[in-house]
Amino acid sequence: MNLDFNYYMPTRLIFGVGRLKKLATTRYLPGKKAFIVIGASGAMRKNGYLDRVIEYLKQNSVETVVYDKILPNPVSEHVDEGAGIIKENKCDFVLGLGGGSTIDSSKSIAVMAVNPGKYWDYINGGTGGGKIPPNRALPIVAIPTTAGTGTEADPWTVITKSDSYEKIGWGNDYTFPVLSIIDPELMVSLPEKTTAYTGMDAFFHAVETYLATVHQPSSDHLALEAIRLITRYLPIAVRDGENIEVREKLAWASTEAGICESLSSCISHHSMEHAISAYYPNVAHGAGLVMLSVAYFSYIAQRNPDRFSDMAKAMGEDVDNIPEKKRSFAFITALKRLIKDIGLEDERLSNYGVKKGDINKLAQNSFKTMGELYQITPVKLSLDDVVKIYENAFA
Ligand SMILES: [Zn+2]
Repeated sequence: MNLDFNYYMPTRLIFGVGRLKKLATTRYLPGKKAFIVIGASGAMRKNGYLDRVIEYLKQNSVETVVYDKILPNPVSEHVDEGAGIIKENKCDFVLGLGGGSTIDSSKSIAVMAVNPGKYWDYINGGTGGGKIPPNRALPIVAIPTTAGTGTEADPWTVITKSDSYEKIGWGNDYTFPVLSIIDPELMVSLPEKTTAYTGMDAFFHAVETYLATVHQPSSDHLALEAIRLITRYLPIAVRDGENIEVREKLAWASTEAGICESLSSCISHHSMEHAISAYYPNVAHGAGLVMLSVAYFSYIAQRNPDRFSDMAKAMGEDVDNIPEKKRSFAFITALKRLIKDIGLEDERLSNYGVKKGDINKLAQNSFKTMGELYQITPVKLSLDDVVKIYENAFA
């Protein structure tokens, strides 16, 4: 096969335990007045992270304005509102502190702070207007407190338009953070379930970017490492959240899977999940992915087994001693074991109120909103195939 790819990863990463305090001294802050975006849950205040960030920025002569309304499945209304507040306060960069929802929102707010109209005017897919923003974006700084989305190392932001049940990923060259500080110490306070869900989100970013038809040498290398690290360390982190060495391994796995999302791409497993959490916002993204995963990857592996045995190997399966025909299913075996080891084997779509009668609507939504990802999935999936996969996920 000829090598044929694009490589663009412009984010400066500051990685390591205790390195949040670099905010006080770094030369790489992109402005003098930060618009800090945090979630509505109050966790950033309760854990003292917000106070620390404000204090460090002050030491670095940076003023701050805080916006604290972001929901776990973030909505476009808050993007437009946040952008309005930035304009009034004349902030010159945006800092997202928290999980994927807050950092993604900070990216979208950074775009809307310098562009006219509504956020949805620029979205590709669904009812989005598909316009190209005439201006770039305010610079973005990302400080993740979960190890999952990888948004600190990619340009993607996923926002929901709640009145039309559309959850769509979007991004451009200006929505890469200019600076991301990844400090595993900020992740020790995560509850068990959040650790498991976010860890599996990172896991599937690695798996999907490895399988995508647009994969490339660097993403392959990082994806297999992330798969290996998450398989090994996520079960430990779920049981022993305070274990900083394990948190460090998972923080890196999540960030490298984020880099994979920049260099390669997720595939339609993500389109199918977004449809679920658009209609059922109480489904955490990682939980939705887990509940679809065995059905989805079994369907793909049956039709195109290439590359599954590499991933099974990275998960510790003794692939060389398995007959060639069965190797791709070693990945499915390892996936089921991982889901069990992190205590998620009893998660079912029906527990969240998702009904079999929703399947057609979900399948259509996944094509309408995130249809692009079907084009880089290694098996061509029709609407009927997707319906079948949702049905299998219910079985
Ligand atoms: Zn994801």
